[in-house]
This record gives sequence, C-alpha cells and structure tokens, in this order.
Amino acid sequence: RCGYVAIVGRPNVGKSTLLNHILGQKLAITSRKPQTTRHTLLGIKTEGPVQAIYVDTPGMHKDNDKALNRYMNRSASAALKDVDVVIFVVDRTRWTEEDQMVLDRVKYVEGPLLVVVNKIDRLEDKAELLPHLKWLAEQLPNAEIVPISAQHGQNLDTLEAQVAKHL
Ligand code: GDP
Ligand code: MG
Repeated sequence: RCGYVAIVGRPNVGKSTLLNHILGQKLAITSRKPQTTRHTLLGIKTEGPVQAIYVDTPGMHKDNDKALNRYMNRSASAALKDVDVVIFVVDRTRWTEEDQMVLDRVKYVEGPLLVVVNKIDRLEDKAELLPHLKWLAEQLPNAEIVPISAQHGQNLDTLEAQVAKHL
C-alpha cells in the first residue's frame, strides 16, 4: 500500500519538524523564522507493507500580494489535490487569520483529513487544550484530531497509524 500525504498549515506550526521526526532525519529545514520552507518537499517513509509519501508544503500566507507568498500559497494549494490523506497542522491553542485561511480550504477536501494539534509539550495547562480540540471538531466534523509534539515525538505513532489506515 502506497499513497501521498500532504502536510499543510500556516507558517511556523511545525510542519517540517513533523516531517523530519517521521522520517528520522533532517530533510526539511526547520526554523523559528517563517518562510523557511519555500518549495514543496517529498519524504518517503516505508514501514512493512505501507509506504507513505509525505509532502511538506511552504505554508499558506495571508499577504497574497507578494510574489513569493503567492508562489508558496499556490504550491500549498496544489499539494491538496491528488493526495490520499491531508494532515492539517495547527498550534496547540493559538489560532490566527492564516489558520482560518487554511481551514477554509481543507474544509472542502474530500479524502481523509487529520488535524494535528502540535506543540503539546509547551502546554502549561492541559485543560486549555480541550476547548480548542472541541472547537476544531465542530469546524471539521469529518476530521480526526490528533494532538502531538513533533519535536519530542509524542503521539506520532498514533498519527502514523491513522495515516496508514487510509493508504
Ligand atoms: P513550519 O513552518 O510549519 O515548517 O514549522 P517548523 O517545522 O519550521 O517549526 C517552526 C518552529 O516551531 C521551530 O522553531 C520548531 O523547532 C518549533 N517546533 C516545531 N514543532 C514543535 C513542537 O512539537 N514543540 C515545540 N516546543 N516546538 C516545536
Ligand atoms: Mg516548513
């Protein structure tokens, strides 16, 4: 079994960190600075009979007037088409205009959608996560929601199992 898995989300939510941790190598450059990933990157993870081709995207930006942003938004949108699974990465509690932009696009994705709530290692109070998860579930009723820490590898086994289910 083999398929494409798109990783989308606004800049800085941890898309490239997630790809690197899944692959166990530093393929994508990660940084606190937005716009570190300017092109779409592919990473292949093979485990037993399952081969997942992850597509890391540049993230969607709100200033569509800049040529570089337009280019990055185009490649992020293109990655949503013709894939088997979409992973929408968001921050643990923070929600921005750019998250909303991505949400408005992934709403129309027909295939399986996984919403990954990243950076849970930074949660000061676990209780603050629950309202966010509930709200996300209301926005995207067909999505599966998986809280993770891409940096520390927390719950990535659950995420990869969810991905494999759809390939
Ligand atoms: P991208 O723009 O979505 O690809 O984000 P990056 O993967 O480049 O990560 C942006 C920043 O968030 C970097 O400084 C990462 O080290 C940090 N980061 C990513 N995942 C986590 C996480 O699970 N926990 C914490 N604390 N920081 C993270
Ligand atoms: Mg990146």
